[in-house]
Amino acid sequence: MVNKENYHQLINELDGKATLVAVSKFKTAEDIMELYQLGQRDFGENYVQELMEKQLLLPKDIRWHFIGHLQSNKIKFIAPFIQLVESIDSLKLLGELQKQAKKANRVISCLLQVHIASEETKFGLDENELQELIAAVVNGGEEEWRQISITGLMGMASFSDDERQVRTEFRKLKTLYDTYSGSSSGSIHFSTLSMGMSGDYSLAVEEGSTEVRVGSLLFGKRS
Ligand SMILES: *Cc1c(COP(=O)(O)O)cnc(C)c1O
Repeated sequence: MVNKENYHQLINELDGKATLVAVSKFKTAEDIMELYQLGQRDFGENYVQELMEKQLLLPKDIRWHFIGHLQSNKIKFIAPFIQLVESIDSLKLLGELQKQAKKANRVISCLLQVHIASEETKFGLDENELQELIAAVVNGGEEEWRQISITGLMGMASFSDDERQVRTEFRKLKTLYDTYSGSSSGSIHFSTLSMGMSGDYSLAVEEGSTEVRVGSLLFGKRS
């Protein structure tokens, strides 16, 4: 069951300042259709198999965002249709995306996932790894990275009630975004700073987010 009141409230609150990606992992195609009928088109999924099943069933004008941990051997399954891969955190993964995008005869947009939280368990590049990856793309040249477009950064803040800490983490990601947004490569065109979830999207937007990824606030708690 979708919480329509929360949806309308969220859309009003975002007021065009940030795009809403509705995170539908573990939720049914029926739930997704409820939001679709309200006009929602961007949906986020974390698991390749689940995403493929839903993509087959659901309207083809849905823009699917992949936001989960991605294994390189599964990129081929989503390359034909994915709108945005938000969780690139290694050069190996980027290389496989390039390869599969070429096979699918597409240019695929992606975000680099940066580790900003204090928790150890979250995926993503640290500052040095981010710098190295961007340098590799810049140095590799346009031919090597023809089929991908790096359109920004994604990050998750700590699960914490400490507003100051969460804000500091978002601010750090925004600073990195600003640092690399001018990178000179035909494959880097920053436009998207993906940060903010059900518990912290307001803070994220205040700190410069252009895309929030909200699940439980819209779809209820996941079991
Ligand atoms: C599950 C998930 C979300 C949504 O989380 P909620 O707290 O339910 O809004 C956002 N981003 C990522 C990367 C996720 O895995």
